[in-house]
Amino acid sequence: MCVFASKDYDGHEDVIFHADSTSGLKAIIAIHSTNRGPALGGCRMWPYETEQQALSDVLRLSRGMTYKAAISALPFGGGKAVIIGDPRVDKSEPLLRAMGRFVDSLDGRYQTAEDVGTTVSDMDILRKETRFAHGFSDGTGNPSPATAYGCFMGIRAAVKHRLATDSLEGIKVAVQGLGNVGYRLCGYLAAAGARLLVADINRALVQKAAAEFAATPVPAGRIHRLDADVFSPCALGAVIDDETLPQIGAGIVAGSANNQLVRPRHGAALRKRGILYAPDYVINAGGLIDVAHEGRDYDSQKVLKQVAVIYDTLTDIFQRSDLEGLSTDVVADHMAEERFRKTHSWPRAAFAA
Ligand code: NAD
Repeated sequence: MCVFASKDYDGHEDVIFHADSTSGLKAIIAIHSTNRGPALGGCRMWPYETEQQALSDVLRLSRGMTYKAAISALPFGGGKAVIIGDPRVDKSEPLLRAMGRFVDSLDGRYQTAEDVGTTVSDMDILRKETRFAHGFSDGTGNPSPATAYGCFMGIRAAVKHRLATDSLEGIKVAVQGLGNVGYRLCGYLAAAGARLLVADINRALVQKAAAEFAATPVPAGRIHRLDADVFSPCALGAVIDDETLPQIGAGIVAGSANNQLVRPRHGAALRKRGILYAPDYVINAGGLIDVAHEGRDYDSQKVLKQVAVIYDTLTDIFQRSDLEGLSTDVVADHMAEERFRKTHSWPRAAFAA
């Protein structure tokens, strides 16, 4: 297995492999960049079939965190951890504590949080071994409210840019997925007067949204095709591909799902079709902003104020996209790179603060 030659390597600062024979822990921490500050990113636990798959995943995710933190103007860099194993059968307190010691050994250069396969209760266990774990069950813990608010502000920015209005009154928004983020987003949109069309594979959630927000239920397979103003993907990633892209009925795509574009070329294809796309890692950064504020001085109003800046960031991206003739996802990457490639020299003590 070659790290430096891996297509996902992309100049990572550190890639550290660790095994603990007592607990059975096998884990990798990847630190893409600490130029803006300590590398922040979740700890994923997944039954990877090969070590190569685990390595590719951690490198790809860690790089993504650098871009997300930079575009959100956070004093953090990007990193990620993966534990190789099935969380349903392999997770144990000794394994999580060993992971906590692994994180701690990096002295704060990498700071972790929950991710797929780990929970806030797992972070409570890591915390027994390290100060550098975020998202505790006795703290703020849940990033979804901030993510939903960020999406709401992002939709407002997109509507302003495309439809030249500050009001969402009567604007038709098709929301795909009514989970932690999507349902809360519907609450914001309904309060602002938007007309909601909703889909989820969980019928109970659809019925609840219909009753609470006067939302119109739509079959899950049709939601992206609707003649709406905004299509808001808030379910799974990889929602925009060669098949779905020509079917999209809305003029704006703006939602919380991660990795919405199956290939980078789909960003350019959306632009060519005249669809305004709010890049996923910009509009869904509210949760990361929330996690970055965690600690004794946590102030929810301060967090929401910073999350609201997603409106301005997206407005800048949309305007630059028009000026430069580039798709919004490419412009977002350029803006993030401009922010994290400026070299800072952080005193080592700053990581441990
Ligand atoms: P969730 O699991 O709570 O909700 C997802 C919802 O989508 C569920 O209700 C599920 O039934 C529904 N769903 C699944 N497949 C569907 C389909 N084909 N059609 C319609 N609905 C479908 O997840 P969440 O926390 O609300 O996150 C939603 C998305 O936003 C995910 O892609 C997640 O990675 C991303 N995201 C979430 C956060 C956060 O703070 N929770 C932060 C950043 C990004």
